[in-house]
Amino acid sequence: MDNYRHTPCACVNCGKVVDAATGVNKDYERAPKDGDVAICIYCSHIMVYDNGKVRNPEGQEIIDIAADPDILRAINVIGEYNRRSRT
Ligand SMILES: [Zn+2]
Repeated sequence: MDNYRHTPCACVNCGKVVDAATGVNKDYERAPKDGDVAICIYCSHIMVYDNGKVRNPEGQEIIDIAADPDILRAINVIGEYNRRSRT
């Protein structure tokens, strides 16, 4: 998995700077593009890349995210990482 730096923007939930992305599988071994899902490493908030920023998912995006096992696994891994980091 490679990391991709991008223009900094703020997580819409916690406000921390989002300036890099790491793909969760080989289909995402590239820089993020509009419509790709982003999960904040600090608060696990789910967002969508849109025009160089991140925003909350809307409508069908929410349904698609909830049905994507790769995204759900990534959310669980990040959540577990954050829980262990606090202890
Ligand atoms: Zn956040």
